[in-house]
Amino acid sequence: MEAASLFIYDPNEMKYRFHDDHPFNQKRLDLTTDLLRHTGALSTSDTQKPKQADEEELLLNHTREYIDAVKKLSRSSEQSPDYELADKFGLHTDDTPFFPGMHEITSYVVGGSLIAAHAVMQGKTKRALHLAGGLHHAMPNKGAGFCVYNDASIAIAAIRKTYKARVLYVDTDVHHGDGVQWSFYTDSDVCTFSIHETGRYLFPGTGGVQERGDHQGFGWSINLPLEPYTEDESWLASFTEVFERVLSAFKPDVIVSQHGCDAHAFDPLAHIHCSMNIYLHIPRIIREAADRWCGGRWIALGGGGYDIWRVVPRAWSLLWLEMIRHPLPDLLRSDPRTRLPETWLERWRRESPVPLPLYWLDPADEWEPMPRRKEITLRNKVITELAMIYLPT
Ligand SMILES: [Zn+2]
Repeated sequence: MEAASLFIYDPNEMKYRFHDDHPFNQKRLDLTTDLLRHTGALSTSDTQKPKQADEEELLLNHTREYIDAVKKLSRSSEQSPDYELADKFGLHTDDTPFFPGMHEITSYVVGGSLIAAHAVMQGKTKRALHLAGGLHHAMPNKGAGFCVYNDASIAIAAIRKTYKARVLYVDTDVHHGDGVQWSFYTDSDVCTFSIHETGRYLFPGTGGVQERGDHQGFGWSINLPLEPYTEDESWLASFTEVFERVLSAFKPDVIVSQHGCDAHAFDPLAHIHCSMNIYLHIPRIIREAADRWCGGRWIALGGGGYDIWRVVPRAWSLLWLEMIRHPLPDLLRSDPRTRLPETWLERWRRESPVPLPLYWLDPADEWEPMPRRKEITLRNKVITELAMIYLPT
């Protein structure tokens, strides 16, 4: 096993929490790291803590006006919040309500993604993972979709500024990676590729195949909007086909990927119907691409994922296991009925409001096929073809 990967984490990152009833729940970080420990795949020597990003770093993607507003709302006492200010900057919504300490904790999350980016670009490690990151909906002057600061955009901007590398951003979250796309929409050195459920039915409503970038960046925003109820085979075929072409057309120096795992059928916020199988395959596809095109340089971030018990711990553990070249992903390819560690199940079973899965993958024979599978696959093929036609050659 090579020791070429860095895991950025601090339990403090669980404090990125809007309120007790909000679906964005970083307890999933605890569940995931605990699963990795019970698998014997996470050591303290691989782990590094984030540090808070400073204002100069936040300014790489956000306006001073917005940062000042976040700071002020972060200090707001419950008696006298400035709702007008919060409204103006998208921080007074059900999705993204301001909360005390929001500036400090989100700057800390940004700092984690920056450490990951610098460690990889300076050759200290080949691959780095920061699961608390991936807040891809935040805009330069607006919070949105559970995201206050956009750590992905800031990390990419830092890579551009310091190392001048060409960055390929790959976003497999079920929601369109809009914040990152708009940040680099006119940039020919940053390519954004987002595969997601079509915005016809899902937040944020953008990510159509015709959003292709502008000016110098024309052609380097690539969107693959899939049909609701898309299943593994069609999802993976669409992703692989376009991703291969993006790589050979763009020739990146480094890959930054966002690993929201809300395209799983169990996820309560979206309608894609994939199983754990795609979360076994995505990390291998990206790792091999980074090895082939980027000398291995790969920065991976977390993202969405709202079934925090049954989906996120397995999906994100599989990501790290692939990054450290652990034997388990290969074992799962030959034996999909490999069980989760009994000690982990034992620890969390009582607390989980739903029965925990017993296996790393979802057993295929318990998986009902969708009634419109043929039609959905065909529609996805058409959109995949179109995305390929639109790609620069
Ligand atoms: Zn999402």
